[in-house]
Amino acid sequence: MTKYTPDIVIVGAGIAGLWAFHRYKALGYDALLLESQAIGSGQTIASQGIVHSGLKYAFAGKINKLAQGISAMQDLWTAALRGEGEVDLSAAKTLSTSQYLMMNNKVMGELIKLVTSQALGNNVHEVARKDWPEEIATSGFKGRIIFMDEPVLDIPSVLRALAEPYKDSIRKIDTPDDPFGFLKTHNIEPKQIIFTGAASNAQIAAKEGHDHGLHTQARPLLMGMLKPAPYPLFAHLVGHTDKPVASITTHTTRDGELVWYLGGGAAERKKEANPQEVYKAVRKGFAKYIPNVDISNVRWATLPIDRIEGKSGIDGWIPDTPTIHSHGNVHYCWPTKLTFAPLLAERLLEKMDIQPSKAQSDWSFLPDIDYVETPWDEAQWTDGD
Ligand SMILES: Cc1cc2nc3c(=O)[nH]c(=O)nc-3n(C[C@H](O)[C@H](O)[C@H](O)COP(=O)(O)OP(=O)(O)OC[C@H]3O[C@@H](n4cnc5c(N)ncnc54)[C@H](O)[C@@H]3O)c2cc1C
Repeated sequence: MTKYTPDIVIVGAGIAGLWAFHRYKALGYDALLLESQAIGSGQTIASQGIVHSGLKYAFAGKINKLAQGISAMQDLWTAALRGEGEVDLSAAKTLSTSQYLMMNNKVMGELIKLVTSQALGNNVHEVARKDWPEEIATSGFKGRIIFMDEPVLDIPSVLRALAEPYKDSIRKIDTPDDPFGFLKTHNIEPKQIIFTGAASNAQIAAKEGHDHGLHTQARPLLMGMLKPAPYPLFAHLVGHTDKPVASITTHTTRDGELVWYLGGGAAERKKEANPQEVYKAVRKGFAKYIPNVDISNVRWATLPIDRIEGKSGIDGWIPDTPTIHSHGNVHYCWPTKLTFAPLLAERLLEKMDIQPSKAQSDWSFLPDIDYVETPWDEAQWTDGD
């Protein structure tokens, strides 16, 4: 039986695994990416595709480490989107090059100081009333708005841009609960193994006795969707607290219908919660802050999903960097945010400290794997009554 000794095997083809895989292949590493469901399953296809500038995490007018760290990521993503980065995302689609922060005056004061200080180093500015986009000007919104130079990406096209050039080395694993057994069965002895399987990482680490000092957290969400959306909108609608009432991104179904995908406060509830709670929260928030937006005749759907990340020191807080838990040559990883995928790939490279072999193993004896469908194409839509 042929023995395979690739440089790196990565388990889990979400954004973390895909970014690292594409980057390492481009550098000449012999890498194999294993996926159990479909490319992009889990959090990545469920994400809103926002490459954060950090401003959303500095609403209170203070820059924390998360805001700072995220702000440094944008240049890496935009270079990749131009085809000039460490990975090539030139085939990926940008849904919007910017977003709006629609804010109540009360939350605004400290933030405006921060925006004017340029502390986050981004193209962020307040939009004068006379220059508001027509949709917002006619929505009945009463606060102030900030323009944020934050791209929102079409995730299915990002997945394809990352996977397609090296698709021959992305294969299906049929025993996801036992990846080490899978490698042994197929006589694959990688120099380094990276786990980017979100929730399954911790289970595998525990099974292998690699979990000493490992702590993760799951934050449940019940994301909302409505269609047909009245027009494309990419905005965080902030009410009287520093948490958005709703973060809105716009996507298109296979049939060409516009969908508003709704995160933020409206979605922060248990996955098992009654979907009506989400619809009600969105209706209430819209009626209060953007009363002229007519959503009386839309269809609704929800998506229950956990955000999985390394545990931060403080309950419920988001860690300010990716998490890597290493046990010898085995690395269990959580990017924390899609935006942080480049940083995770870079830190892993430093940790692994191996040179690319420039070899390219032939993985055609393992089954091929397809791309995931979008939540809006898979959803069960209802009238929301
Ligand atoms: C609703 C929502 C919205 C978000 N919006 C944003 C946003 O706008 N911007 C942002 O920066 N971040 C956002 N995030 C966070 C971001 O999506 C995640 O941090 C990121 O996608 C995690 O990527 P991942 O590759 O680690 O995990 P995942 O995307 O969950 O991918 C894990 C992959 O591994 C596979 N897998 C699991 N176990 C195994 C196994 N044993 N063997 C083989 N394969 C396995 C899964 O099938 C899956 O394909 C959002 C998250 C959620 C939930």
